[in-house]
Order: sequence, then structure tokens, then C-alpha cells
Amino acid sequence: MIYADNAATTKMSETAIKTMIKHLNETYGNPSSLYSIGQNAKEVLEQAREDVAAVINADPREIYFTSGGSEADNQAIRSAAYLGRQKGKNHIISTAFEHHAVLHTLNALEKEGFEITLLDVHENGIVRPEEVEAAIRDNTCLVTVMYANNEIGTIQPIREIGEICRKKGVLFHTDAVQAVAHIPVDVKADNIDMLSSSAHKYHGPKGVGFLYVKKGIRLTNLIEGGAQERGKRAGTENIPGIAAMAAALKESAANMDRNAAHLKARRDQLIAGLKEIPHSALNGDAEKRLPGNVNFCFEGIEGESLLLLLDDKGVQASSGSACTSGSLDPSHVLLAIGRVHDVAHGSLRLSLGEDITEEEVDYIINAVKEVVTYLRGFSPIWRDLMAGRKEFIL
Ligand SMILES: *Cc1c(COP(=O)(O)O)cnc(C)c1O
Repeated sequence: MIYADNAATTKMSETAIKTMIKHLNETYGNPSSLYSIGQNAKEVLEQAREDVAAVINADPREIYFTSGGSEADNQAIRSAAYLGRQKGKNHIISTAFEHHAVLHTLNALEKEGFEITLLDVHENGIVRPEEVEAAIRDNTCLVTVMYANNEIGTIQPIREIGEICRKKGVLFHTDAVQAVAHIPVDVKADNIDMLSSSAHKYHGPKGVGFLYVKKGIRLTNLIEGGAQERGKRAGTENIPGIAAMAAALKESAANMDRNAAHLKARRDQLIAGLKEIPHSALNGDAEKRLPGNVNFCFEGIEGESLLLLLDDKGVQASSGSACTSGSLDPSHVLLAIGRVHDVAHGSLRLSLGEDITEEEVDYIINAVKEVVTYLRGFSPIWRDLMAGRKEFIL
């Protein structure tokens, strides 16, 4: 079995599992309790906060633990929106290809009277900083642009966008769930005010993540209750999960350069192999993309059938994001980069893991070639294309 859906989730690392089991066994105290086992838990919590902060060049006091990337996105965006509205600012800028944790939060805010501008991401899947600048108005309270896209892997000009937001005095949030631990992220150099991250995208456990909030920026809370996380995120802390996240993140960060170099080589091998399939196209910029991300459209087929047949051959991949697969609508990300419905339906995302080998990539290439040829063999759309009754797009 070749697991090639690491953008959906990753396998926990040995280090993360060991850390989690250790704390499940030993660190059962409540960090809010004053006796020693409570204080032990508090120490584990604060060590994890330091470790996480160090990886993104933040101060530990700027880290708020959450239940994952979705919660961090929700909290950052709602906080900026509600605090902005108190100053008469109700305009938010984002992009058309954000994760649903961002887009659906923005939809909800729109119903509450906020004005939302979604920027174009163009054919290459990259936002243009000058278009962010042009969209900023006097009443803009937040710009939120993802660091790297979860479907097509394109990396955004975060530093430039952050610089523009600083200059204009507008808060800048980035959903960095796909970026942290995979490519260098430095909240200071990148001019980031708020950042979301999730452990299960870098070999940590599911259900835990963090929100970075730059010192001096106010934050409202989503969850009311106790004084945990400096009163901004109530609820007894998930110590085993948080400690395992910190362990996974430290390990990924320490091996990042080596992993990225290996992944890029395998990614480019895969892209070169899949390009040989006629009437196919890579989605998103070929260079400015995550080291392990490959996303293709194949004309004349359905992504879902492709997935299921690849699964029969032992290759686990995705068509569009896990959150939208199962629905018949094509990916909003592929539509945002200008793919028409027919073409967007025939998409395949392969997100490689660090342990992928050259032989496994060859196996994937052959499996995809076979399945695409097989499916085209009885696709009515393909028949029309071949007979000239329909024009090829790719
Ligand atoms: C996975 C993902 C999320 C959601 O994170 P969870 O921890 O699963 O809630 C948000 N944004 C992006 C870009 C993601 O890839």
C-alpha cells in the first residue's frame, strides 16, 4: 500500500506516539491544579508551548493551543472581525481557494453583515500582492490568505502580503496548516499577525493544533469557561495531544531540509511521469508548490472512479480535498484557477510522505496511466472528444 494522501492527514510518527503514550500514562494531572502532579502537567504544557513557538520564531506567550486547524481559523477570523467592527471596520479580504474552515467562517460573517472580498488566484494558483493592496479599504479589518494551498500545493507570497498589511495597518492572518513543518515559516520575517497550524498534518495526533497571535493583538474567545490559555480558550488542556504535537513538530522541523529535498525530487519525478498522459495538465505553479504535492487533471474521466481504481491497485490518493469528496461539485480550488467543470471533475491529488521511494513513484505513475486509459475506454465524453464532436481543453 502506498499512502499518498498526506495533505488530508499523516501517519503519526514514532516519536509522537511514544510521547503521547508517556503522557497518557504519567501526566494525568490537571495543569490548573496546584499540587505536584498538576504542576507537572503544567510544566509539560509550557515546555510544549516553548517548543512550538521556537519552530515558527514566536514567543511562547503568543501560542494558544486549540483543537486543530479549523478551530484556530475560526477563532482568528471571528476575533479580528468582531474587534474590527467595534472600530467601524467590517470589510475582510481573503481568496477564492481557501480551506472551508476559512471560507465557511467568512460566509457566516457575511450573513452577520460583514463585507467579504475574495481575491482571484489566477491560473498558477498564486495570489498577487498588488491585488491585496488594491483591495484594502479604510474599513478593512482583516486580510486572511493561506500560506500554501491544501489541494494544489501552491505557496503564496506571504511575506509581501504581510508587509503590505503592516504598512496599511490591517491585521493579517494566514492558514499555515499545510506549510508549518513542511517549508520554513517565520512569523517575524513573514510579517504575520495570526497563524493557524494543525498537528495531524505533520505526523502529530488529530484533534490538536495551535493559533499564533502576535503580542499586542487582542483576541476574543470562541469557547467560554475557565481561564486556560490566558482566558482565550477555555477547557482542560489536551496534555498528551499537545506534547505529542510539539514532539512531532520539533522532529519535522529538524529534518525539514532533508525531507523537502527528497520530496521535491520524488514530486518532480511523479509530475514528469504523469505529464506523459495525453490531455492532462498539472494544476498550480510547478515551482512555487509544496515539496510533496502533485495535482493533475485528466480530461474525459471522473476523479472519483480514478480514486477507487487506484485504491484497488494499492495507491491511496484524493480527488479534491477530503472535505469535498463525496459531493458531486467539482473542487472550488480547481474552479478558482480557471478549470472548467468537466476538466475539474477529472482531478487527482497525490500528496507524498517523506518515506516515499523512487520505485513507489514509478509504481504510482504506471498505475495512474493504466487506470486513466481504462476509464477513458468507456467514457462517453472521451468518445466525443476522440470523434471530434467535442473540443479538447487540455
Ligand atoms: C487540514 C486543514 C485544515 C483543518 O485542520 P483540522 O486540524 O483538520 O481542523 C485547515 N486548513 C488547511 C489548509 C488544511 O489543510
